[in-house]
Amino acid sequence: MNSVTVPDEALSFHRHRRALMQVLLIFTALFGVMFIVLNFFAGKYLLMGVEIAVTAFALALLPVVRRTPYLQLWSIGYLFVLYSGVSYALIAPDTSVTVFGWVLLMPVVAHLLIGRLWGGLLCAVFVPLAGAVFIWRFGTDPIFANPGSIANMVTITSCSYLLSYVYEGSRTEAERRLRRMAATDALTGLPNRTRLEQIYTGHMSVERLPLALLMIDLDHFKRINDNHGHGAGDTVLRAVAAIMRDRIRDSDFVCRLGGEEFCVLLPAADLFAARELAERIRDAIETLECREREAVLRLTVSIGIAIAEDAAVSLDTLLHAADQNLYRAKLGGRNQVIG
Ligand code: GH3
Ligand code: MG
Ligand code: MG
Repeated sequence: MNSVTVPDEALSFHRHRRALMQVLLIFTALFGVMFIVLNFFAGKYLLMGVEIAVTAFALALLPVVRRTPYLQLWSIGYLFVLYSGVSYALIAPDTSVTVFGWVLLMPVVAHLLIGRLWGGLLCAVFVPLAGAVFIWRFGTDPIFANPGSIANMVTITSCSYLLSYVYEGSRTEAERRLRRMAATDALTGLPNRTRLEQIYTGHMSVERLPLALLMIDLDHFKRINDNHGHGAGDTVLRAVAAIMRDRIRDSDFVCRLGGEEFCVLLPAADLFAARELAERIRDAIETLECREREAVLRLTVSIGIAIAEDAAVSLDTLLHAADQNLYRAKLGGRNQVIG
């Protein structure tokens, strides 16, 4: 049997939702068994049948959600089944008015598990439906004679909806900010190596080949730190980053690999095009004048180029090939492009 390879990135994205889904499924199964037993002894066989179906679905889903790349779809399916079960429990004869307690949980579970959009849509269907069924079923119950009871139910349901909506919104925003920070170099604002690893596979599509990689290393950068201080070194790194950002096309990608090393990915670029851009970058940096207090700092870069002709070439292989050419450029006297 063919096994589906799921990229780690896809698995780590929404990791908390995967964990939450697993906890919910375990809870669904445990409480499902409890209600199956209770309803068996109460002789409510139809309701028991619905609970057996929901519990079996939860148990079958448990191994699936550990690795599926379609977590969102499965989660929507699970909530649909669960909320249908709750709606049926509201209709079923002999259930008590307390079943409505489950409806209060619907917005919280939906927002946390499938986000604001899909969670909101699902609740927009099930909460009014459950409310209507509840009024139809328990309309004659004494609680409806007391406006305070109805106000309580409406207020708690609205709070459950609004609080989980706001919470999920700020959690998603915080997660987005953290992801951006984790993939960005704080000094230059360029993407970092983590981001390069994330986007590399996406750049390996046929129409983007050949893919050129430039590895750019500042020459004798340590001297700038030693002679003018670390702050001056930082200023230079920012200026170099700005030059590279200005020189590349929209479809290109530039990042800081670390220290005084940068990398540029050029989709659909052969060696000729890669050399041309590398020379332009080298030339722009050679003519750059970085002012630090009274001093004017000048520097050069060495650049190694590697080309991936087919999609099977890994990032490590390409970086290694570019690094070897960079090494040759250093040995050849620096301030040059080899590739
Ligand atoms: P080469 O021409 O052989 O590349 O020599 P180099 O001096 O550029 O290379 P080396 O590896 O000897 O030194 C790199 C220096 O870069 C050492 C380190 O202190 C400095 N460096 C690394 N990261 C930063 C940074 O974020 N800011 C500053 N100011 N310096 C940094
Ligand atoms: Mg260097
Ligand atoms: Mg270096």
